[in-house]
Amino acid sequence: MPQTPFHIMTKPIGPICNLDCKYCYYLEKEHLYPPRHSFRMTDETLENYIRQYLAAQPTQEIEFAWQGGEPTLMGLDFFKRMVELQQKYCPPGKRVTTSLQTNGTLLNDEWCEFFKKHDFLVGISIDGPPDLHDRYRVDKGGKPSFDQVMRGVKYLQAHEVRYNTLTVVHRYTGKRPLDVYRFLRDEVKTEFMQFIPIVERVGEGEGLLWLAPPPAIGEDASVEKGPPVQPWSVEPRDYGDFLSAVFDEWVRSDVGKVFVQLFEVHLGIWMGMGASLCVFGETCGSALAMEHNGDLYSCDHYVYPEYLLGNINETPLIDLVNLPAQKKFGDDKRDALPKYCRECDVRFACNGECPKHRFYTTPDGEPGLNYLCAGYKRYFKHIDPYMRAFTRLLRSGRPATEIMALVREHDAQRETQARWTSASRNDPCPCGSGKKYKTCCWSKRGQAAAHGS
Ligand code: SF4
Ligand code: SF4
Repeated sequence: MPQTPFHIMTKPIGPICNLDCKYCYYLEKEHLYPPRHSFRMTDETLENYIRQYLAAQPTQEIEFAWQGGEPTLMGLDFFKRMVELQQKYCPPGKRVTTSLQTNGTLLNDEWCEFFKKHDFLVGISIDGPPDLHDRYRVDKGGKPSFDQVMRGVKYLQAHEVRYNTLTVVHRYTGKRPLDVYRFLRDEVKTEFMQFIPIVERVGEGEGLLWLAPPPAIGEDASVEKGPPVQPWSVEPRDYGDFLSAVFDEWVRSDVGKVFVQLFEVHLGIWMGMGASLCVFGETCGSALAMEHNGDLYSCDHYVYPEYLLGNINETPLIDLVNLPAQKKFGDDKRDALPKYCRECDVRFACNGECPKHRFYTTPDGEPGLNYLCAGYKRYFKHIDPYMRAFTRLLRSGRPATEIMALVREHDAQRETQARWTSASRNDPCPCGSGKKYKTCCWSKRGQAAAHGS
């Protein structure tokens, strides 16, 4: 059987970071390794990984994704070596792309010249304007990081590096969608935005228990019976309203100019092309995570001992990716879906979202409902008519950007209708004549409306 494509998020410096973001689920991974462990990827692991990853991918274009912790702490020489190895092992006729996710605080001319030269796509983690960003994204001394991040953005802009943004929707950003969206669009000037909801359950102690691990598939981990969520977790309805409000602004003004990952993914689903993001797919399991020492885990959200598949320095990468345990991990996303989800009218778009968030109980008492369910129901129902309109446009060969004029025209009709409906006899006439309604159009429209026609 041909190999299916897979994706690995690689962490060359493990969880080590120069920031101390309060909501970061990844920092505590330090406790997975013994004290005084070196979290730096060795040359041997780097070469082993690049060689195996390139040989295993069936696609023409092969994407490497480097993440952290803060990957730039590895230093530029590591990435120069990485580029050399990618070129050395890239099979003839194939193309390699590289993306790197960073907090942006250590970027300078040297880094950005390098990114530009090798056409990196740089993801900047930024949560919105200063008060929202600095709420949780602070350095080791608890000081704000916003200014340093924006300095990094300026370097990227000066060197014309391709960049996008990754924004965590937390308890507070979740309440200010347009402040966040407009800031990213107008100040950071990003043309591609990723939003990810932060949802963490409270653990039972320090270290690895500080955050509760994701629920095992089928586990009855309902919030009513278990620990509550951390205070930075976005509230479910807020998340739905956040996405809906950003969508409303985007669909009226920015289609074709700004790309919002979730909207692109959902348009693909409405177009019948399936989910291009694991969380909305029926099954998952092809987005894995690799630690600095070659340890491969089922997923970035499941870096826990029970989801360790093995080490690529000991077992061939492709064998680990194809392990039955990994296939089961991915299939469980579908197989453990509660009846409430299976019968849900937006299941085709949601699929119960990520199993990491499935720790609520359905109204009929079944475990495994997604914490964000109430938000997703609102959001998917909200975008449905727009997505249908997009689909009609695209299927008839018209550009997606035409949706903006259609939506604005629809808005104008609704406004006009509302003006006529709410006007009383002594108000100025909604037709704009300057006369009173009762001496102008009232006899024609008001009485007709009063008689229900
Ligand atoms: S567990 Fe969640 S994030 Fe991980 S692969 Fe599955 S859907 Fe994606
Ligand atoms: S919206 Fe709620 S009920 Fe519907 S599939 Fe998603 S999580 Fe399940």
